[in-house]
Amino acid sequence: MAKAAILETPGEGLVIGEIDVADPMPHEVLIDTKACGLCHSDLHFIDGAYPHPLPCIPGHEAAGIVKAVGSEVRTVKPGDHVVSCLSAFCGHCEFCVTGRMALCLGADTRRGKGDVPRMTRSRGSGESEPVNQMLNLSALSEQMLIHEHACVSIDKDMPFDRAAIIGCAVTTGAGTIFNACNVTPGQSVAVIGCGGVGLAAINAAKIAGAGKVIAADPLPEKRALAEALGATHTVDALADDAANQIMAISGGGVDFGIEAVGRQAAADLAVASLRRGGTAVILGMMPLDCKVGLSAMDLLGGKKLMGAIMGMNHFPVDLPRLVDFYMRGLLDLDTIIAERIGLEDVNAGFDKMREGHSARSVVVFD
Ligand SMILES: [Zn+2]
Ligand SMILES: [Zn+2]
Repeated sequence: MAKAAILETPGEGLVIGEIDVADPMPHEVLIDTKACGLCHSDLHFIDGAYPHPLPCIPGHEAAGIVKAVGSEVRTVKPGDHVVSCLSAFCGHCEFCVTGRMALCLGADTRRGKGDVPRMTRSRGSGESEPVNQMLNLSALSEQMLIHEHACVSIDKDMPFDRAAIIGCAVTTGAGTIFNACNVTPGQSVAVIGCGGVGLAAINAAKIAGAGKVIAADPLPEKRALAEALGATHTVDALADDAANQIMAISGGGVDFGIEAVGRQAAADLAVASLRRGGTAVILGMMPLDCKVGLSAMDLLGGKKLMGAIMGMNHFPVDLPRLVDFYMRGLLDLDTIIAERIGLEDVNAGFDKMREGHSARSVVVFD
């Protein structure tokens, strides 16, 4: 039995309940979850903006200890400290073998409709019903049963709460700077939105030696956090002249405009912030009917537009490196975490996220 936060009805928050977790199949890993960050992407499913089979367990930014492994697992062993990543990779598809494993949708790491349920819960009188896994992880649970290609072992000295947020927010923000943009020293970066992903991108831009790092957010407290993490300038993202301010600060626009909110206006601001030849990167999960575009003049100016899902990570390599960056004092994860809460306070944590004031809430399991 494991305690978990279960989504039964979108729009009505999560219900704390008990689930039964199966023994690991040959390529599965059973993990005692120690910490799980609350991510804005969870909220899209919890509030019903994106559909998902129900009931299901959200949470996809976790760290824990391996409890048991399936017969074929070679990458981790019981007792290992691990960080999970939703970018489960098959290792042999076109995307994996060309180094773009964050794009993998290989079926063998995913659970199909006809598969034996791996998580169930009692419905009383001996009956049980399947509980669906979300984003390959379902980490808001005392136990996770995941594919071995959805986690990587890390240094045991790394604290679990800070390790957890590397699994999504930090991998996405830092991966965008290091993998997707390949920022070189002196290049300019604007980051629109200073939540967990945006703050990680700002911090990574500093580590990469970016020149001007401009943070845009409507909230003064978020802009202050951005400065603490390495922003050289800040702008009120909702100011009428936000794009003009970024143009003025950067001397004609930035090399990289990074959208880390998931809103049309933020994506448009990322595009409007570009200098000639610049690239806009859209990271947020926007409403499904949104579209971002480049004008004829943008295209004549050699501007580019791209997505960079999960920071285009190669997480088995990237995550241990990010852990090392933290241990050496380069990556500032302490500033990104706003609070640590218990599983029973998960709905309050998501309410805070809706208000937008704090950076990252992390659920810690005892
Ligand atoms: Zn996430
Ligand atoms: Zn693959």
